[in-house]
Amino acid sequence: MARPYAPSLAEMTDKAIAILDKNSSGFFLMVEGGQIDQAAHVNNALGTLGDVAGFDEAVEVALEYQAQHSETLVIVTADHATGGLTIEDAPQDGACPDPNAGDPRECGTLLHEDGPFSENPGAQFWVDWTSTNHTADDVPVMAVGPGSAALAGTYENTHVFEAMRDALGLAH
Ligand SMILES: [Zn+2]
Repeated sequence: MARPYAPSLAEMTDKAIAILDKNSSGFFLMVEGGQIDQAAHVNNALGTLGDVAGFDEAVEVALEYQAQHSETLVIVTADHATGGLTIEDAPQDGACPDPNAGDPRECGTLLHEDGPFSENPGAQFWVDWTSTNHTADDVPVMAVGPGSAALAGTYENTHVFEAMRDALGLAH
């Protein structure tokens, strides 16, 4: 899908839940902000940040449903990180001249710095990339609902499967 997404990931999440919620036996839904990874592979900070914000809106939709359906387990995680993204308060080795240009390759090379971006007036930050590939850092796992306590701490990624299996009441 081309940005800006229509429908948005949040709208698709809302529709999917509305359909699946009709099943009295419950449901399993996976929502992926899949183009976060694609944007990070080409070191596109604007696309990465925008897609993370869009994913955050989809999480909000899921959390609103969970607040009304306390038997629901919501898990938010990633399969890996991409790009070795770091946040800096000043450019270290040359920023992209136009962060709104969209395609970072217009800045000359990959592995460059995007910026400045501003979340609050007067507070700027730059995004520095260290890779165009997947990275080996741990990813966060956040969860709310029945069984979410099993997802605290540090563990192998297959433990997420075990938590979902238990939440679904499936045999070991
Ligand atoms: Zn990837």
